[in-house]
Amino acid sequence: MTQKILIVGGGIIGASFALHLAEAGADVRLLDAEKTVGGIATPNSWAWINASWGNPPDYFRLRQESMRQWRDLDRRVPGLSVNWCGGLLWDMAEADLLAYAKERNAQGYEVKVVKGDKVRALEPQLAAPPAIAVHVPGEGAVEPVHAVERLLTTARAKGAEVLQGTGVRWLIEKKGRITGVMTEEGDLDADIVVLAAGTASARLLKDVGKELKLDQPPGLLVHTEPAAEMLKGLVMAPELHMRQTPEGRIVAGTDFGGTDPGDNPQGAADELFAKVQASLMGGDTLKLSHYTVGFRPTPPDGVSAIGAVPGLEGLYLCVTHSGITLAPALGAFGAAEILGQGRNPLLQPFAPDRLFATS
Ligand SMILES: Cc1cc2nc3c(=O)[nH]c(=O)nc-3n(C[C@H](O)[C@H](O)[C@H](O)COP(=O)(O)OP(=O)(O)OC[C@H]3O[C@@H](n4cnc5c(N)ncnc54)[C@H](O)[C@@H]3O)c2cc1C
Repeated sequence: MTQKILIVGGGIIGASFALHLAEAGADVRLLDAEKTVGGIATPNSWAWINASWGNPPDYFRLRQESMRQWRDLDRRVPGLSVNWCGGLLWDMAEADLLAYAKERNAQGYEVKVVKGDKVRALEPQLAAPPAIAVHVPGEGAVEPVHAVERLLTTARAKGAEVLQGTGVRWLIEKKGRITGVMTEEGDLDADIVVLAAGTASARLLKDVGKELKLDQPPGLLVHTEPAAEMLKGLVMAPELHMRQTPEGRIVAGTDFGGTDPGDNPQGAADELFAKVQASLMGGDTLKLSHYTVGFRPTPPDGVSAIGAVPGLEGLYLCVTHSGITLAPALGAFGAAEILGQGRNPLLQPFAPDRLFATS
């Protein structure tokens, strides 16, 4: 008999699960509390697809595989349009840059050391180009809300049902098994519930007696008004990560995870925007449009948590930072595990058990 699968959460993670489950022919329904598509953390993400930032080695391999899967998705999801623009990085000391390039190249991740004119050719509008940097040609970015919309539209076309504006009030538990969810409109039963509710996952778990250890650091990003091309790719400078969207907006943070907004987010945004202006030739013509503050669902050890929730049958959890990079692999491997095809070895170190208090 076909299993009924309910996904709670329609950010990038829930959307990837919905697509992969629908592609496998599962009976899948996704519920999201918000009326608008895109998620909560997801729209506020810098959305860098990378394995530059990715140690320990198990985590690096998962990220690298997910980058490969983004390329597959880019081919099979109409209109997804991942921007494979590459990244220029020099936010560490020269010795560390060289060691990083050596380590990643040995792992099959192409990183080129670039100097002088080569740096200027890659990013001609940098006001103070570094003497040495590394270029990572295989990295990219997505416009996160657009990506969620494309994944969900494709999932729908493959049979998934997507209900926006349908919040889950609680998970229904009977004798140690999750049998469905309670929404504002009533209860819905399921054989498997996939919890992909980002930072809200902890609250839903708490109601069924499970304390999930999850941090949610804030990250502020500034977004400029659309401008003519100033950046060709991702730029990871010391204390300033920037990229330009296809629409022409520069999106920047102190690093990819955003700037700490402190108790004066407008002040932090103004300071960050001034840095963006100073870092680019012609930067004085840029106009600040707005800033966003997102909260990153982050397990305390910094790596993903994906798999069955210990002590609760029928509940599958996926919470992660770097969810933009990791969504394809987590959704694909998670769907396969839910459908009884076993656990992909790349997921082995990331079981959620470690995030629950043992009593
Ligand atoms: C500033 C910042 C920069 C970042 N930079 C990067 C980066 O460069 N690269 C990268 O890979 N990652 C980055 N991340 C992390 C990445 O954005 C997140 O890991 C990812 O977006 C998490 O996706 P999600 O689907 O788990 O969560 P969300 O996008 O938060 O989605 C969760 C969904 O669950 C829904 N929901 C919650 N509760 C309920 C309920 N009770 N009922 C129904 N629905 C519910 C919400 O409405 C929401 O739509 C960044 C994040 C931030 C904030």
